[in-house]
Amino acid sequence: MKAILIEKPGDTQTVSVTEVSETQLPEGDVLVDVAYSTLNYKDALAITGAAPVVRSFPMVPGIDFAGTVAESGHPDFKPGDRVVLNGWGVGEVHWGGLAERARVKGDWLVPLPEAIDLRQAAAIGTAGYTAMLCVLALERQGVTPDKGEIVVSGAAGGVGSVATALLAAKGYEVAAVTGRASEADYLRGLGASSVIDRAELTGKTRALAKERWAGGVDVAGSTVLANMISMMKYRGVVAACGLAAGMDLPASVAPFILRGVTLAGVDSVMCPRPDRIEAWTRLASDLDLGKLEEMITELPFAEVIETAPKFLDGAVRGRIVVPVS
Ligand code: NAP
Repeated sequence: MKAILIEKPGDTQTVSVTEVSETQLPEGDVLVDVAYSTLNYKDALAITGAAPVVRSFPMVPGIDFAGTVAESGHPDFKPGDRVVLNGWGVGEVHWGGLAERARVKGDWLVPLPEAIDLRQAAAIGTAGYTAMLCVLALERQGVTPDKGEIVVSGAAGGVGSVATALLAAKGYEVAAVTGRASEADYLRGLGASSVIDRAELTGKTRALAKERWAGGVDVAGSTVLANMISMMKYRGVVAACGLAAGMDLPASVAPFILRGVTLAGVDSVMCPRPDRIEAWTRLASDLDLGKLEEMITELPFAEVIETAPKFLDGAVRGRIVVPVS
């Protein structure tokens, strides 16, 4: 079967499209025929070797896949079932979705809701499911559309695009933050009510700035997140999931102790299964699949390796879907 394989025979890693035997697949109780995989920021880090995402070699990258069960020893799945997988260390420590077949633990799989097809499931992928987890985090903390505008950073990227569309569909006003002014029309098309230059959030952080937003979804970290927190309204909530700008957080406690602001951390990788099922159920009901289509770029399997570096330049719009078989 065809696979992308990352190897590290010495100090340097190599990546190639190659043939591997199904007998080389890791252990697991479900074998899946992969229909689509995706390219996420983390996959780009793995394929380029820009960060130590891969922790065991050789590795098939691909933190997401959508496909059909071929064989199952798991009570919840039978051949023919449509499934989606996001995270759980797949593509990092366990062979991932950028191969024609994947063998995984059935406990990692989510049955695909009827309304979503395999290509759409891959398009949503880790980025879209993380965006949904962020929206759920805002809701759990009581952020409703009447409270005010929600700010979304990295809005033209994967998480940001889906978060913008999901929030707008639920009636929130969305301020989409982007470093690419050229994406303003795209963002308004997804439902953003305003488009903000990223530069407004990258300057020196103040302990407290003018109150602007009722909530936020942040993919950037660093000064972007710190500024976002400082601009929250009283009892505002920020869901933080990314580090596109950096791992640091040069913030003050002032917004937390004077405005009751909440910082909600969001992790998709080890997120428990019931929360995943809730997120996918909500994606099936809330995400406008026409808007999802506007986010999709299809990338041939053979071009994945050469495209990965573009991700790290922040030059990718929306979601990249890779047809596998
Ligand atoms: P992506 O498609 O590459 O989008 C990231 C976007 O961030 C870019 O498109 C760009 O959008 C913006 N950006 C790039 N460099 C920036 C900088 N220096 N400062 C501020 N914004 C910057 O990636 P993604 O898949 O959406 O993932 C976004 C982040 O979330 C990544 O850090 C990823 O690792 C993280 N993530 C975390 C989880 C989790 O479980 N916690 C899950 C998925 C993703 P604009 O051009 O529009 O500004």
